[in-house]
Amino acid sequence: MTRIFVTHFHPDHAGCAGWLANRNKVRVWMNRTEWLFIRMLVADQQDEPPKDVLERRIFQGYDQRHLDRFKAQGFGNFARAVSRLPAGHRRLEDGQHVRVGGRVWQVMTGGGHTPEHSCLVGHHNGVIIAGDQILPRITSNISIMDSEPDSDPLGEWLASIAKFRAALPADMLVLPAHGFPFSGLHVRLDNLVEGHLERLDQLEEALRIKPLRAVDCFELLFARPVTDEVFGLAAGEAMAHLRHLETTGRAKVETLDGVGWYSAV
Ligand SMILES: [Zn+2]
Repeated sequence: MTRIFVTHFHPDHAGCAGWLANRNKVRVWMNRTEWLFIRMLVADQQDEPPKDVLERRIFQGYDQRHLDRFKAQGFGNFARAVSRLPAGHRRLEDGQHVRVGGRVWQVMTGGGHTPEHSCLVGHHNGVIIAGDQILPRITSNISIMDSEPDSDPLGEWLASIAKFRAALPADMLVLPAHGFPFSGLHVRLDNLVEGHLERLDQLEEALRIKPLRAVDCFELLFARPVTDEVFGLAAGEAMAHLRHLETTGRAKVETLDGVGWYSAV
């Protein structure tokens, strides 16, 4: 092993990178923002969530039971799930060319799932190592993160899909981080966009009938019932859809007793 490429900061992708790098004395190559995220989250460990983070959960419509559950989980569990990275890394940037085994791969970054997720594009063989940016069956989680409560990750996600579609050939072979390889990059990207646009339209319609909190949107957005285990993820994803409608002028929010109620414009 001579080096380790990491696509993004999520623990199921970066969790063992530090362990492997330290064990094999090799450099971790990853996007600087993603690398800094790991360093930040590892350092950010507290017994209870900070006040502003709890306030955001109230804003999303958490009831007392879910708030208590969230508090009991502690804050900064990321550090418990990942190994420590070495102090230095090698930076991967959008557009950069990286030579691997005599072949050149181009780094392409996308947003929305994480801030600057790196993919590796092989123009020589028509292959893209896509990480979580392009998955075959499931839709990548697009959530509001506590570090940027006012952001529009779904907007970043849709912009990234347009970027990848414009830059890459239609029939590339995609090597995703979850599921099996598949060909037909453009078809998959188009399906992903259609799915999101359809859900946004349905959500806007629902907001015309009555104001909704993020937690009221689960049934409309998700095919499966939302259990306690995925409640936080679901709330983050619902918020991302509401924020996108708000950012694009299709919805407005009114805060009552700390709770965000969204309605159509
Ligand atoms: Zn991920």
